[in-house]
Amino acid sequence: MSDLRYDPVFDVWTAISEIRRERPIEFVPIEQSFKQLICPFCSGNEQETPPTILALDQAAQMISGDSEKSWLARVIPNKYPTYVAGVEAISEQIGPFRRSTQPGDQELVIPTPRHLYSLSELTPCEFATGLRAAQLRLAEKEAQREVAHAMLFVNCRYDAGASIAHIHFQMIGSPVTTSALEGRAKRFLTTGSPSNSLMAEILEFEQERRVRLVRETEDFVMVCPFASRMAFQVWIVPRDSAIPFWEISEEQRGQVAELSQYYVERIERLLGKPAYNWMLHQLPFAHRATDHWLIEIVPRVSKTAGYEMGTDIWVNPVAPETAARQLRV
Ligand SMILES: [Zn+2]
Repeated sequence: MSDLRYDPVFDVWTAISEIRRERPIEFVPIEQSFKQLICPFCSGNEQETPPTILALDQAAQMISGDSEKSWLARVIPNKYPTYVAGVEAISEQIGPFRRSTQPGDQELVIPTPRHLYSLSELTPCEFATGLRAAQLRLAEKEAQREVAHAMLFVNCRYDAGASIAHIHFQMIGSPVTTSALEGRAKRFLTTGSPSNSLMAEILEFEQERRVRLVRETEDFVMVCPFASRMAFQVWIVPRDSAIPFWEISEEQRGQVAELSQYYVERIERLLGKPAYNWMLHQLPFAHRATDHWLIEIVPRVSKTAGYEMGTDIWVNPVAPETAARQLRV
């Protein structure tokens, strides 16, 4: 359980979560740890994790009980959560500060029982089934509204924040929203109509200019954003973002997998298997009617330094037009 603290000077929340210090870190020192650890996410080691919340088979159908061994994607609670479901909400003012304990949740989606390290190593079916499992959990969170916002993401390799090497998605349901999320919700709807939104205008412009366009499918466009904060940053944007992520079709899950894997394979060839983050950016659930989600993937090829931390102005040594050209080849 974490202690949520609000910083009135910088207008940000911090989750003080000391249980996170107890996590096994598989990466440091990597050789020793690999010898000591049984991977809890591999098939046959299910007893090493908390009980399964949801399991899907090859056909993305739900399975349970004895058939659990034949899972392709498995959802489990995070063993070291920052937020816990069902705790009593407590809020208090301490001098100039606000702190609170609030319910949230934290789950992991393991998209393969095989010991793989990167999204590029998954079969398209494994990737898409992992996305299906995440959709089912997000739909439930949206319906229950016990959390204000849910973030789905992948931390691949140590420099991206991973502690377990076996590739997996994480889902964090936060009890609070932030001014950054609320600000994004306002900016998305500059014109008041989802079909005539900021994102629709950006897509139209990028498809016309094509210099930052990386790849397209029937329902998605992959671009390097105009003001990329980090080298080789990309967005995967749905052409029709009025459909929430948890309601996209099997065909569309396949397209998200295809574009994500195309990109990760490219950066792994160009940049020598960098750490990277894959993130589904959604608005808080209260903005469901106006959500404009997108997927962002960022290789962690540079460190965040004092200037970026101090100003939130990022210095990027690779122009998005150059990155897009290299990613298209
Ligand atoms: Zn494993």
